[in-house]
Amino acid sequence: MVIVLDKNIDEKKLENVIKHLEDFGFAVHKSTGIQQIVLGAIGVKPDFDIRKVKILDGVSEVYRITEPFKLASRTFQKEDTIIKIKDVEIGGNKVVMIAGPCSVENEKQIFTIASIVAKAGAKILRGGAFKPRTSPYSFQGLGEEGLKLLRAAADKFNLLVITEVMEVNQIELIYKYTDIFQIGARNMQNFSLLKELGKVTKPVMLKRGLAATVEDWLMSAEYILSNGNREVLLCERGIRTFETYTRNTFDLSAIPVVHKRSHLPIAADPSHATGLRDKVLPMARAAVAAGTDALMIEVHHDPEHALSDGPQALLPDQFEELMKQVKLIAEVIGRKM
Ligand code: PEP
Ligand code: MN
Repeated sequence: MVIVLDKNIDEKKLENVIKHLEDFGFAVHKSTGIQQIVLGAIGVKPDFDIRKVKILDGVSEVYRITEPFKLASRTFQKEDTIIKIKDVEIGGNKVVMIAGPCSVENEKQIFTIASIVAKAGAKILRGGAFKPRTSPYSFQGLGEEGLKLLRAAADKFNLLVITEVMEVNQIELIYKYTDIFQIGARNMQNFSLLKELGKVTKPVMLKRGLAATVEDWLMSAEYILSNGNREVLLCERGIRTFETYTRNTFDLSAIPVVHKRSHLPIAADPSHATGLRDKVLPMARAAVAAGTDALMIEVHHDPEHALSDGPQALLPDQFEELMKQVKLIAEVIGRKM
């Protein structure tokens, strides 16, 4: 931690700041510049609240130089984490395609879409059976019936399954049907859910919260990791900004930022990030160019009648075109799909 002191700090205040830092358990190094004194405090604990220093009389600025997350950091683990499920690897050289409808609606719908996305090259079938809808009056998902249909459709077309878990009491049920648990944006800081998913033996995809910084997001990943589950896939799905022409703002820079700070793989979800079908293809290309390890794309054969997120779902031929284009982009940066 670096502490910049006020320009005209007197000796008494300076001694007081140093005494506090030592009492907090830090080794203090003083450096006197031409205009200001800067203190270096060594031995910062990850959970130390730097505001305790910010409020001391005579302190101008405080900067943390170590990251508050540990297990998620590159400092802790240099090599990329590769999540292996059957013959699919997430975080390796291949960019993995996750695709499917927003929600599982009925047998015909999920089997039709599974067949389309499998043929185009997707490896993982998505579909919500428990839906976190903004309105309590919107379709809430088929529950266990949806999970059964999703699993059956995925098995028929040799796909893996990812589906959202919203509550701790759904974990046991969903475990029976899924290969990857999805934590939705609205639950990114549901700490009791994160802790419980830290105890399961299946990978977890953690979506970024609507108003979460990358640091908040990695701290949430830390909850899962520190409870024992080391298979965490992050997912950038857009954040809330003042922009209204897209549903959210796709923070593409989060991809290289996460890759630098963390060894965890990252997926990108341009469907929820933009919320509009015609924006999905260009942003999917951009996400692959930015280095995403996986893409999550919503697809529907009849989006006009979809029970959720129809306007952002790609039609089958649009999805095929997307697959072709992102494959080309992947090759440019030395990856495959
Ligand atoms: C979803 O992927 O189905 C979903 C609800 O996304 P998000 O949590 O990102 O809104
Ligand atoms: Mn959706």
